[in-house]
Amino acid sequence: MPSGSCFCGTVKISHMGDVPLQRMTSSAFSINAMVSATEFSLDAGDPKRKIISSVPGREVAYYFCGECGTTLWSEDCSRPEVRFVKYGCMDDLAAKNAGKPKYEICTSTKLSWVPQVEGAKQYEDIAGLREELSGEASG
Ligand SMILES: [Zn+2]
Repeated sequence: MPSGSCFCGTVKISHMGDVPLQRMTSSAFSINAMVSATEFSLDAGDPKRKIISSVPGREVAYYFCGECGTTLWSEDCSRPEVRFVKYGCMDDLAAKNAGKPKYEICTSTKLSWVPQVEGAKQYEDIAGLREELSGEASG
């Protein structure tokens, strides 16, 4: 099972999803693996939880290490059966290289120098992807 940890190693996670992601680092983009909650495991540590409402009426819970601040995963509070694991915190470089993003979201605010991922479906915002994925990864 792919495993990962925060920068300082206090919080450890693992999941059985086929595609892991990248750390939330205030970077130009974030890569997430969408996995079922039943395939996700918190293996060590006691991560902090912060709920942020970036869109009115919609809340997302972010889980991060209280020691180093690394975000490890998030959950849409209306879909707690799904985890969005930050790909960059996963340990297995070969597995990360094997997984290729299937979707790109928020392309309306994408920086001009970030290349498009070949073969990935494009969505200007998350609403379009959410419609397409409704019902997926709910088991
Ligand atoms: Zn840490």
